[in-house]
Amino acid sequence: MNSTHQFSLRMLLLGVFFLSGFVLSTSPARGQVLLVPDRIFDGEVMREGYAVLVDAAHIADVGPRDELIRRHAEARRMELPGTTLMPGIIEGHSHILLHPYDEASWNDQVLVESRAERVARGVVHLRETLQAGVTTIRDLGAEGAGYDDVGLKQAVGKGVIQGPRMLVAGPAIVATGSYGPKGFREGVTVPLGAQVADGHDELIRVVREQIGGGVDVIKMYADYRWGPDGQAMPTFSEEEIRQIVETAASSGRVTVAHAGTAEGMRRAAEAGVRTIEHGDGGTQEVFRLMAEKGVVWYPTLAAVESIMGYGGWEKGGGPDPERIVVKKRAMQWAMEAGVAIGMGGDVGVFTHGTNVREMELMVEYGMQPVAVLRAATSLNADTFGLTNVVGRLAGGLFADIIAVEGNPAVDMSVMHNVSFVMQAGTQIR
Ligand SMILES: [Zn+2]
Repeated sequence: MNSTHQFSLRMLLLGVFFLSGFVLSTSPARGQVLLVPDRIFDGEVMREGYAVLVDAAHIADVGPRDELIRRHAEARRMELPGTTLMPGIIEGHSHILLHPYDEASWNDQVLVESRAERVARGVVHLRETLQAGVTTIRDLGAEGAGYDDVGLKQAVGKGVIQGPRMLVAGPAIVATGSYGPKGFREGVTVPLGAQVADGHDELIRVVREQIGGGVDVIKMYADYRWGPDGQAMPTFSEEEIRQIVETAASSGRVTVAHAGTAEGMRRAAEAGVRTIEHGDGGTQEVFRLMAEKGVVWYPTLAAVESIMGYGGWEKGGGPDPERIVVKKRAMQWAMEAGVAIGMGGDVGVFTHGTNVREMELMVEYGMQPVAVLRAATSLNADTFGLTNVVGRLAGGLFADIIAVEGNPAVDMSVMHNVSFVMQAGTQIR
């Protein structure tokens, strides 16, 4: 896609903006640091006995440890025995302005909690996320909090608060009548969790309005639970989605689709969205279409399991319930079709800072561990236009680096044990 290149350039500029923020806000001894773990995952493959040289904010050299020690004898050395060094995790689907639904229902978060409370929680969530080794997030909707995600991103960029790099979606776009909170009597107006727009002219205007508001991606809902029996059914026509995609693309931005039905997914893929979120109802035909169109899928397994848990499901206490069976089958079909699968758990539905639950589930649902590590680093970076910014341990990229105790290719649960976090060359943890 032609717009991808422009997107990368823009993100590179964004990276420079972030860097200036960190330089102003922190003043550790800068200079060269040689990080010496047991092994590295470079964003593509595991390499035993490798080391990484960081020079100020960037990665300067990667290679076998003995070679690097010889080449950079003057560099300060940091030994990280027992660890795997890897690029900071890139979360593909977060809601930094939401917190778990067993603490407060989504309706109450949108209707009852003050915007101040929601932003205050967001500040805490951002710090917890970064401390857990997630150095970049794609935040897919403020859910009734307007452009507060844009504001939080600006605060991180200026070094006011600690947090990952952010790509934000702002209010997101939904079709009239589809989104919640709903069910109120006629005449009662409540704030919605997203911005309503329909039809050619209005969609163009709202996409442009959100771009002006500072969003990095356009998020739209291709379907929602508004069927006659409350089941998910398509919302926007394929033509409407195409209008959104083209208007966003003209500004160098990509469009992201929430879609859980096969028809919603089909319309979104045909209309040119970059990624599809959830996709529970995907058929083999739809996954083949996504593979053909290069649409990346975010299955959000951790959100599904969390919501099932809030509803009383005890995992492992018997055969899988229908929703889990469907999800596992969808994962199988997507892998067979060759769909690129990204890491994005819909965190916010579950606890911020436990993002890696999605990675564990991706393995449990059939993906190879190294493919899951790629999904959380290089694949997400490439999908979000960040190829030249983060996502790999490679010279010239920002030094967003973490160390985990053990080897996640052998046991993905070690991703919970992050012992070192570096963001643009500054040690955060
Ligand atoms: Zn979401």
